[in-house]
Amino acid sequence: MAETIFTKIINREIPADIIFEDDDVLAFNDISPQAPTHFLVIPKKPIATINDIQPQDAELIGKMYLAAATLAKQKGFSESGYRAVMNCNPDGGQTVYHIHLHVLAGKPMGWPPYQDRMKQELP
Ligand code: 5GP
Repeated sequence: MAETIFTKIINREIPADIIFEDDDVLAFNDISPQAPTHFLVIPKKPIATINDIQPQDAELIGKMYLAAATLAKQKGFSESGYRAVMNCNPDGGQTVYHIHLHVLAGKPMGWPPYQDRMKQELP
């Protein structure tokens, strides 16, 4: 797959506000936060979309959620709650083709997201 900006972040070729790293995953604050807390958890292995996840990646995907939950506890919002979501392809809102778990917290999240957008588009 084509290299994305997230590979450059993994390789420290461009800066990011990194909040967690181990051998398999990296977490960093989103450059354009959509909530008071908004960070991304990515696998170091580049996987373009959810559709490209292979059976052998199952443990890696689990590690992404474990990192999200660990950070949520450390940052104190695990009990108040948060949204952890991966977007897939254009209709899912994906813009960077290296899978990433968005973790958003610090305010109540709307659901479903499609209705949120409709409300925003109303005058
Ligand atoms: P997507 O739209 O693919 O679901 O999410 C991509 C996310 O990556 C967006 O929330 C966007 O703000 C974030 N992002 C894109 N480029 C950068 C970057 O260079 N640094 C950081 N920290 N976040 C980025």
